[in-house]
Amino acid sequence: MTAAEHEVPRLRRDFAALRADFPALRQLVHGKPLAYLDNAASSQSPAVVHEATALQQRLNHSNVHRGVHSLSERATAAFEAARDKVRGFINAASTKEVIFTRGTTESINLVAASFGRRLAPGDEVLITWLEHHSNIVPWQLLCERSGARLVVAPIRDDGSLDVAAFETRLCNRTKIAAFAHVSNALGTINPVAELTRKAHAAGAVVLIDGAQAVPHLRVDVRELDCDFYAFSGHKMYGPTGTGVLYGKTAVLETMPPYQGGGDMILTVSFERSTYNALPYKFEAGTPNITGVVGLGAAVDYLETIDFDAVRDHEHALLEHATRRLLADVPGAKVVGTAPGKAAVLSFVIDGIHAHDLGTIVDREGVAIRTGHHCAMPVMDRFGVAATARASFAFYNDFGDVDRLIAGLHRAVEIFRG
Ligand code: PMP
Repeated sequence: MTAAEHEVPRLRRDFAALRADFPALRQLVHGKPLAYLDNAASSQSPAVVHEATALQQRLNHSNVHRGVHSLSERATAAFEAARDKVRGFINAASTKEVIFTRGTTESINLVAASFGRRLAPGDEVLITWLEHHSNIVPWQLLCERSGARLVVAPIRDDGSLDVAAFETRLCNRTKIAAFAHVSNALGTINPVAELTRKAHAAGAVVLIDGAQAVPHLRVDVRELDCDFYAFSGHKMYGPTGTGVLYGKTAVLETMPPYQGGGDMILTVSFERSTYNALPYKFEAGTPNITGVVGLGAAVDYLETIDFDAVRDHEHALLEHATRRLLADVPGAKVVGTAPGKAAVLSFVIDGIHAHDLGTIVDREGVAIRTGHHCAMPVMDRFGVAATARASFAFYNDFGDVDRLIAGLHRAVEIFRG
């Protein structure tokens, strides 16, 4: 081996320099520098993602898998290269296990519709109290169709999952256990490898909703040993309308198609159709080619970053924000205080509606999310109709936190005089 082959590229941890890669962060909003703290909803993407999608649109736009002409070959190569990048990023064993979807929601619906076909009355689907609606409603619909029962494992007052209660709800009727890796509303990080082991011991297949994990933690699906892992491109610095369902080959092979159409078949006659090999069997119709190429560029970008440093940096931002919120903003309360949680700060301020907070801080250039965060059962659990939520990414800095706190002071001034 040559010295060059031995050289391991240094992973980036210079967060101020990384911030400069994101054009959207350089703009003024209402004449103020943007502090973008709505990353759990959608994160911004780096210029390399915009360049990759622009190139795909400008020169390579054509359909994949079907053409023999050069543009189609280029588009197919870029699309399949993105699949292999995603495979490497999550350490899947094969590209057969990487199915492109339009997002986490579609990935979960795919499993509910296809794997779910085998559920029957008496079977159970186990979820947790902290799930996003997209990891609740597809299972509810499945239960309505199949006669199976939806079982919910409770959370504690700090927003952490009651693992013992999860375990007692597992039994030989549990066919599917589906839970978030990281809660979008509270930031709780679930012990997903442990939950997976327990669910497997009961004979259930496991789906992990990784929408909030993939942008912040190194995910290794083989280490987790889950059967399915779902995530979205737009939360991991890539384009909207893209997502991934990882599935173990052995499980995917047993599942019927999700949607019918082009690309997912081998032969079609009016009597009977036969289906394509994995992963194409689950990718009916023309996919979001441009978006997937952009997702591939986002993965390339993330592969250059030191995720251990990301965790430390985001944690420092969360600590600083939490400390300042509680010390400096009268009447502020944090919702979700699980130990070791991700960089999501959900909070309420006495006497001020979350939506008013969101509107006032926006005038100061600060973007936060307000509402139920598509997790109404979580809001009910904590007795609030809505929270304000600041969610951090590695490109945020302490200045963003300070601007948030200044914006909240402004809101308190307006409401309390
Ligand atoms: N699960 C979680 C935990 C999420 O945070 C979200 C998005 N807020 C989703 C699922 C749904 O993702 P998408 O809308 O991209 O399908």
